[in-house]
Amino acid sequence: MENSVYALQGIPFTQLAAEYGSPLYVYDGEKIQSQVKRLQSAFSGVDLKIKYATKALSNVNILKLMKQFGTGLDAVSLEEVKLGLHAGFTAEEILYTPNCVSFEEIQEAVKLGVMINLDNIPMLERFGTVYGDSVPVCIRINPHIMAGGNSKISVGHIDSKFGISILQLKHVLKVVAAHNMHVVGLHVHTGSDILDADVFLQGAEILFEAAMEFKELNFLDFGGGFKVGYRAGDITTDIEDVGTKVTSAFKAFCAQYGKKLELWFEPGKFLVSECGYLLTTANVVKPTPASTFVGVDSGLNHLIRPMLYDAYHEIYNASNPSGTERVYSIVGYICETDTLGADRKLTEVTEGDIIVIKNAGAYGFSMASNYNSRLRPAEVLVYKGKAHLIRKRETFEELLANQLEIAL
Ligand code: PLP
Repeated sequence: MENSVYALQGIPFTQLAAEYGSPLYVYDGEKIQSQVKRLQSAFSGVDLKIKYATKALSNVNILKLMKQFGTGLDAVSLEEVKLGLHAGFTAEEILYTPNCVSFEEIQEAVKLGVMINLDNIPMLERFGTVYGDSVPVCIRINPHIMAGGNSKISVGHIDSKFGISILQLKHVLKVVAAHNMHVVGLHVHTGSDILDADVFLQGAEILFEAAMEFKELNFLDFGGGFKVGYRAGDITTDIEDVGTKVTSAFKAFCAQYGKKLELWFEPGKFLVSECGYLLTTANVVKPTPASTFVGVDSGLNHLIRPMLYDAYHEIYNASNPSGTERVYSIVGYICETDTLGADRKLTEVTEGDIIVIKNAGAYGFSMASNYNSRLRPAEVLVYKGKAHLIRKRETFEELLANQLEIAL
């Protein structure tokens, strides 16, 4: 709230919705910058490289901002790699961490010159056979840690499809030796919404032990997963605490290893979750015997996190900042149960009000779809006090663009 009005850098959300339409994703460039700086200063004691997890929010303008703020990129598809190159990142600044892709896709990425992070033994063998020691490579280790907010976002446990099991390290070493492979990095990513610094330390300890087996390392990558606050009073990752503890463990490891390595992190949510707002319009206020629904012009097609992950996003009524509070369930217009927030206190809502959903920067637009043949929202970046349209609203013609109408 700024001067009793819901606003971003002095621009009321109601004004943004009036100017650019609804639904609308809005991002705060300065918030991203301050998160990057916070991370950089928490790890100022080591050679930190931030590889922003592109998948969280991949608009090319956001990537250009990241480049200006001094990050690199973590990309999980060739398309993300190409977006990164298009945004001005050099190939060396991009780590490509695919899973379950074809070897042809990996070869394509090698041609683009990015660092490859291999996450299974068959691909490691093929990579070794084809490239030997000519292409440096990183290996993704699955440390078998149950970490993260819930089972859907925990990816470093023993049943996870990601990474090469730490229990298969001997096999990895045999493959590496057989092909004289040039392993320059090791990687772990255990999940999202990790609260405890000790979980990062646990992952780090496993990586340190494995790292002693590789003689040519330049970096260790500890993935992403820092938890941000989604509701008032939420416990969040204490990044400064993680910084102090991991820095000290990392320095001790480097001394033992005999070389100063780079320390990499790949945050997504931490950098862009809080910068984002999804602006929607109340289409209908619908009292029922059980509750009063506010039906908005959006839904799980634009923000799937509440339904997919049971994620909590704060919601408020930007059109009536000082009204009386009432309890509503905010739901979307999709023909599925798509509750964006159940039983929430909002200031009194009338049709046409602008309903704002917070923390919508990460995995919001990037997970949006055309389900129900709905169009995806426009995106606006507010930076240095000015609003910029960075993605046009989709059109009906675009929905049809790739459909080939055959004679029937
Ligand atoms: N790195 C990898 C390999 C990931 O899979 C993810 C998320 O899925 C991230 C980084 C970013 O995670 P977060 O947004 O929780 O920081």
